[in-house]
Amino acid sequence: MYLSRIEMTGFKSFADKTVIEFDQGMTAVVGPNGSGKSNLSEAIRWVLGEQSAKSLRGSRMEDVIFNGTQDRKAVNIARVTLVLNNEDRYLDMDFSEVSLTRTYHRNGESKYYINNEAVRLKDIVNLLLDTGLGKDSFSIISQGQVEQIFLNKPEERRTIFEEAAGVQKYQYRKTEAERK
Ligand code: ATP
Ligand code: MG
Repeated sequence: MYLSRIEMTGFKSFADKTVIEFDQGMTAVVGPNGSGKSNLSEAIRWVLGEQSAKSLRGSRMEDVIFNGTQDRKAVNIARVTLVLNNEDRYLDMDFSEVSLTRTYHRNGESKYYINNEAVRLKDIVNLLLDTGLGKDSFSIISQGQVEQIFLNKPEERRTIFEEAAGVQKYQYRKTEAERK
């Protein structure tokens, strides 16, 4: 499984629909300061369910929506889609391509889709549990996170090992079952 494409419309500095294709293997994103490299990585974490505006360098979730420039009006909706190549069926879905979409409207309405079908955030989180692809997983290491891992309390650090070992799914199901 690998990220094969990302489509962003109205997300942070990406006002117009922007499509980036990725090949399997390593991709480096380069560009001048302020050109949107961090915004791109935030777009990925956002679709994976990031709920903290602060960790997306904003103060409210609305800050992910393109808020206009001198010669460009703000828009009302941010939409990001990740297309995952799932030919190896690494994700538990019988599709060669799985798309995950998140939209957010200025009125506060938030929507998630898997293969264009409306789902709950929980469904996305569930699909990605233990795949190493969740928003807090080890596959996305943000600036400052390496120190954070060392500074974490042991219990917090354990989550990283649990995700790597693939046991979070069971913890999650246990908690869900206990709640019922
Ligand atoms: P650096 O090399 O300095 O890390 P970068 O390529 O990571 O730069 P980003 O931080 O991704 O750059 O992009 C910052 C730009 O995105 C700024 O110009 C900022 O104004 C713009 N930006 C952020 N949020 C929005 C928004 N909601 N609407 C419009 N533009 C935005
Ligand atoms: Mg940056």
